[in-house]
This record gives sequence, structure tokens and C-alpha cells, in this order.
Amino acid sequence: MFIATCHCQNVRIEIQELPVTVTSCNCSLCRRYGARWAYFSRDQVRLEAEPGTLSNYCWGDRFIDFWHCTVCGCLTHYTSVDTEPGSRFAVNARMLPLEVMESLPVRHFDGADTWQYLD
Ligand SMILES: [Zn+2]
Repeated sequence: MFIATCHCQNVRIEIQELPVTVTSCNCSLCRRYGARWAYFSRDQVRLEAEPGTLSNYCWGDRFIDFWHCTVCGCLTHYTSVDTEPGSRFAVNARMLPLEVMESLPVRHFDGADTWQYLD
């Protein structure tokens, strides 16, 4: 098991397995966040946070909520607005322990234009 946490450790996300790769996306939002996304479904992760300490940002077509810790500001994950158990839950792999984060190969996704992987 692996635990991704924000800097102040208020937000904790447990995952059972590491992804094979993580995704760096150049869309207008992800390039600003600098996140590396590890994709799971909602039923594969366990999220803990003190009540009222997660804030969401939802933009564009409003399919996705981007969540950050209101205490330390770290962007921890995004979720589909659709809350079914199999819906997407993406963990910001930068919240994993350093050596784990650095061990994960990064794929570059062209979310700004073609919606294809660039590698
Ligand atoms: Zn925090």
C-alpha cells in the first residue's frame, strides 16, 4: 500500500498499487498545476481529510473537480463529477513519497491540442 499526502498531511489518499506510468498534461490547467496524474477508479482509492478542508475547482465543461487542501494548498487529486464507483479518480503522484514519485515513468499528454500522448 502507498499513501499520497499533501504537505501538511491533512489529505491522505491510500492506493494499493502503483500505476505503470504517470501523466504530465499540458492543458491550460495541468501545466499550471505541474501535476503528474496517476489514474485510478474511485473504488480503488481511500481518501481521508478533515471535514471542510478540501476545496474544488471545476471549469470548462465541468466534468472534473480538481481538489486541493485548504490548509497547505497542495493539489491532491481530481475526480469525475459523476460519482459512480468506477468513475475516474486521479491522484497527483507528486503527493507520493519522493523516491516513489521519482520511480514512476512520466508520459506527456497533449491536452492543450491533439489529446494524444506525445511519446
Ligand atoms: Zn495540506
